[in-house]
Amino acid sequence: MCGIFGYIGPKNAPEVVLEGLKRLEYRGYDSWGIAVVADQIKLNKKVGAIGDLSRTTLPGSTIGIGHTRWATHGGITETNAHPHLSSDKSFALAQNGIVENYAQLKGDLIKKGYKFQTETDTEVIVRLIEEKLSLQPRRLHRNLVKAARAAFLDLLGRNTVIILTRDNQLLAARNGSPLVVGVNRDEVFFSSDTLSFAPFVDKALVVDNGQMVATENGKISLLDIKSGRELVPRLENIDFESSKVDKEGYEHFMLKEIHESPYALNQVINQVDENANTYKKFIKNIKVAKNVYTIGSGTTGIAAAQIAFYLRTFGGIRAVGLTGAEAREYFDLFSKDDLVIAPSQSGETADVLEVLEVLKEKKVKIASYVNMPGSTMTRLSDYKFLIQAGPEICVMATKVFTSKLAWGYLLSKMVTDKKKEGQENLKNLTEEIDKYLNKSNNHKSIKALAKKLAKKQHIFLLGKYQNFNIMREGMVKIIEGSYIHAHAMPAGDLKHYAITLMEKGVPVIVAVSEDVAKDDVLNAVNQVKVRGAEVIGISSKPYEKFDYHIQVPDTGETTAIMNIIPLQLLAYYMAVELGHNVDKPRNIAKSVTVK
Ligand code: GLU
Repeated sequence: MCGIFGYIGPKNAPEVVLEGLKRLEYRGYDSWGIAVVADQIKLNKKVGAIGDLSRTTLPGSTIGIGHTRWATHGGITETNAHPHLSSDKSFALAQNGIVENYAQLKGDLIKKGYKFQTETDTEVIVRLIEEKLSLQPRRLHRNLVKAARAAFLDLLGRNTVIILTRDNQLLAARNGSPLVVGVNRDEVFFSSDTLSFAPFVDKALVVDNGQMVATENGKISLLDIKSGRELVPRLENIDFESSKVDKEGYEHFMLKEIHESPYALNQVINQVDENANTYKKFIKNIKVAKNVYTIGSGTTGIAAAQIAFYLRTFGGIRAVGLTGAEAREYFDLFSKDDLVIAPSQSGETADVLEVLEVLKEKKVKIASYVNMPGSTMTRLSDYKFLIQAGPEICVMATKVFTSKLAWGYLLSKMVTDKKKEGQENLKNLTEEIDKYLNKSNNHKSIKALAKKLAKKQHIFLLGKYQNFNIMREGMVKIIEGSYIHAHAMPAGDLKHYAITLMEKGVPVIVAVSEDVAKDDVLNAVNQVKVRGAEVIGISSKPYEKFDYHIQVPDTGETTAIMNIIPLQLLAYYMAVELGHNVDKPRNIAKSVTVK
């Protein structure tokens, strides 16, 4: 969600920053802006997407910052877009996050005579820095770093800010959204992720919460914000193998990424061998933990629930899945003998991080499984695992969701000393998914179904046992991509309420797998069918009650993971059919770094 970018170097800064912002686009935004220094600070701000733009209206420069805004305070307007200029035009500032005490701070500043031009919480930071500067004794040698540090300490909430000064300095402070700095011989990049500058540098500094980076004559220094103490910047090798952000011939990133599921699954199978020792310790910890929780938000909340399902079902572990924003009632219950497992694409999800910070204080063991290297979640974790699925650009998660499920399944097998069996089952699943995705008939028939469903107003999804969470994820994908109301529910709950909605022509998608839940699910199929619903069945066998059959192979214990693939494709083709922005659905962002 939202992004910041900064550049110093011999290339033309407005273009480099624009290019950087484009690479951050996947995070979601509604407006953007760039500031560069050309004698004075010059701004270019716009509402909407960057699109195909390859140049800005800005003059040539060797230093600049940029921002993609996902508005939280103040409407989506050019004025509210970042960066924001200081009154004397000596610096420009952009922010990711929310200043939670902005109303209080703004009120105080207004009383002191400060004037505001925007509705943003961001402008409060600008004015606050101006105030801190004005309090410094000597007029001529005012120290911006010091003022910015002091201002930053007054802010509540999760905030990351970047500042460009008229005298060619870059400054950034982090206490929330990610901040990484990439360096090579003559260039410095600041950004929200390593992906955006990966092609140009091979070393990066991951800035931690509570730290500030400043540049002076191209050299970077790292500071602890509270104490002002200088820290030694530790540059790490960027190991993000496919830093390429390219559709590779596919029409959308979503379709490309669904097709990368077999690759992502292979990574899961191999990494438990590559990191055998860490996994050994981790599995032991799962076994001895008093309580095991899994946690995530949105699609990842669903993945977390399914990982817990696998740990219970195949591992015999009493695991509970939590939703990030709904974990508060557990705060007092967490103890140091518990283990919390946090899968995440970005590793920066604000409402999960909030929980992990509580856990950290209570000395609860944390394991994370994250796709973005250098994330906050990884840093907070006792067991750090990387998903290694390669960049996922489409806002709608697909391959990374599948990876998380496969990983959870494999953990459950490792808990019962059946790692080999788990790996073999996943290998078989990988092959079946690959075959499924490469059969053009599968695409053709799902496309035809998507065309029909795209005209509906409501879509129901039923699942039980291994398929319940899968249907929930199918619901999420349909809602995200097509903006059509979808409703997933346990098949068994149907007769308790939603049966009132079953009438002629209502589409009901249902997964019927060859498992203990099969008869119950078929029972639910009968109940909707007699009321006129159109049944779309996902199963290995055809059933006569189905109006439409999506045939998938039965892959045994991993069948639920197989079943998500046609649902992802269905959501994809529905979004395409409706002419929506598939890779960037309206109003949602890839990594939700604000609450
Ligand atoms: N809260 C700020 C605003 O609404 C920043 C939002 C963002 O992170 O993009 O302008």
